[in-house]
Amino acid sequence: HVYTDAEVHALVEQENVRFLRLMFTDLFGSMKSVDLPISQLDKLLANRVMFDGSSIDGFVRIEESDMYLHPEMSTWMISPWGAEHGKVAQVICSVYKTDGEPFMGDPRNNLKRVLKQMEEAGFTAFNIGPEPEFFLFETDEKGEPTLQVNDQENYFDLSPADRGEDCRRDIVLALEKLGFDVEAAHHEVAPGQHEVDFKYSDALEAADNIQIFKLVVKNIAKQYGFHATFMPKPLSGINGSGMHMNMSLFNQDGNTFYDENDALQLSQTAYHFLAGVMDHARSVTAISNPIVNSYKRLVPGYEAPVYVAWSAHNRSPMVRVPSERGMGTRLELRSVDPAANPYLAIATILAAGLDGLKRELTPAPSVDENIYHMTEEERIKREIKTLPDTLHNALKSLATDEVIKEALGDHLYKNFMEAKTVEYDSYRQAVSRWEQNRYMSNY
Ligand code: ADP
Ligand code: MG
Ligand code: MG
Ligand code: MG
Ligand code: MG
Repeated sequence: HVYTDAEVHALVEQENVRFLRLMFTDLFGSMKSVDLPISQLDKLLANRVMFDGSSIDGFVRIEESDMYLHPEMSTWMISPWGAEHGKVAQVICSVYKTDGEPFMGDPRNNLKRVLKQMEEAGFTAFNIGPEPEFFLFETDEKGEPTLQVNDQENYFDLSPADRGEDCRRDIVLALEKLGFDVEAAHHEVAPGQHEVDFKYSDALEAADNIQIFKLVVKNIAKQYGFHATFMPKPLSGINGSGMHMNMSLFNQDGNTFYDENDALQLSQTAYHFLAGVMDHARSVTAISNPIVNSYKRLVPGYEAPVYVAWSAHNRSPMVRVPSERGMGTRLELRSVDPAANPYLAIATILAAGLDGLKRELTPAPSVDENIYHMTEEERIKREIKTLPDTLHNALKSLATDEVIKEALGDHLYKNFMEAKTVEYDSYRQAVSRWEQNRYMSNY
C-alpha cells in the first residue's frame, strides 16, 4: 500500500508520531538513517530532505556530496519500539542527486534498474522468499557481545520455554505488527541459532523486508540482553547462518517456472534461468557471500553448498528445486548468506538468470547423489564446478564477468571491488590465533 500525504498526516496525528526515521542502505548492506523531528514531515513528502552523501561508505566524494532522500511511501511504518519520547515513523528512501536523477551508487536504485531489464524481457515480477538465519549471543555487563550462545537446543527442539524462544516469539509479533506475513519461525541446527521465514514478495519489497527484518531482530534481541548476529560463521565447528533465496519469475499469466508437461514440471524458462545462475555462480558469490567470514561457512560438513550443482531430490546442492508446484514452483539458491547486501545480491542473481534466458543456456544434468563422495575426476566428468573458496577468488571471478559487473553498474562495481580488495588484504596480513597456536612452539 502506497500511503498518500493525507493518510500520513492522519496517522501522525492519531498515533502521536514525534520523529521521522529516514532509512537507506549503503554499499555493504548496512542500514543508514537520518532522524528528523516531525516538523519536517512536509519537507520529506516533497522530496526535499537533503543529506551529506560523502559520509556514507561507497557513496561519493566531498565535491558532489549533496543528496536528496525520496521516501518510498509503500514502506512507511510506525516503529513498534522506542516510544518513550514519542513514536517514531520510519520509511525507506531512495537517494537522488541534485540534478533530480536517481543516484546509481544507491543499491536500491540499482535493483530498480535491473528490474526494468526484467520487465523488458517480458516478466512482471521476480519473487523472492528469503530464509534468514541468525545467532543469539549473550552479552556481558557492558552490553558487548560474548561468544556464549544462549541455549543448547537443536533444530525443531521442543523444550521448556527459554529466553531465546521468547525473544524469537517477540520478533515474530513485531514483524506481524509491521505487516510481515511470517510463515515459519524455528530453532536452527546450531545452538543459539534461529530462522524466521516470511512470505515471498517482489524483489524490491523482499530486499526492503530483509533490511527491516534485520533491524527488528537486532532491536528485540537487545531488549532481551542478547546480541543478534547475521555473521555467516560466528563459531567454528558448528553450522553457519545462511539466507536461502527462493525465487521465481512471474508474468501476467502467473508463475513462468511451472510447466505441467515436463518430467520435473519445470518450464524451459526455469531451466534457462537455472543455467544462468549456475553459469555466473562464482562471480555472484562475491556479492552473495561478501565478507572474509562468508567462506568459513562454504565448507563441507555443515549443510552449506561447496559445489555448483542443482537437484530436485537432494537438499544439499547449491540450487534445490523444492517439491511444490503451480504457483509455488521455485528455485532455492542455498549459497547466499545474510551478510549479503540484499539489493545487490538480488540484482546480480536476477541478471545471471536473465542472461541464461537470453543465451538459452541448458543446465548441466542434476546431481542427485552425494557430491562429497565423488572423486575430483568424477566431478570434472560431470561438469561440477566448485564455488570460490575465498573472498579473494570470488573477487577474481567477478572481475572477469561482464554480465554481473553490468548488473552492479560502474559506480557500485568500482567501489565494491576497491573496498573488498582492501578488506581481503587486511585479512591476509593479519596473524591469527590459529597460526599462533599451530606454529609458535613448532617453529
Ligand atoms: P525450506 O523448505 O527450504 O526450509 P521454507 O519453507 O522455510 O523453505 O521457505 C520457503 C520460502 O519460499 C518462503 O519464504 C516462501 O514464501 C517462499 N516461496 C513460496 N513460493 C514461492 C515462489 N513462487 N517464489 C519465490 N518464493 C516462494
Ligand atoms: Mg526454511
Ligand atoms: Mg521449511
Ligand atoms: Mg535453515
Ligand atoms: Mg531453505
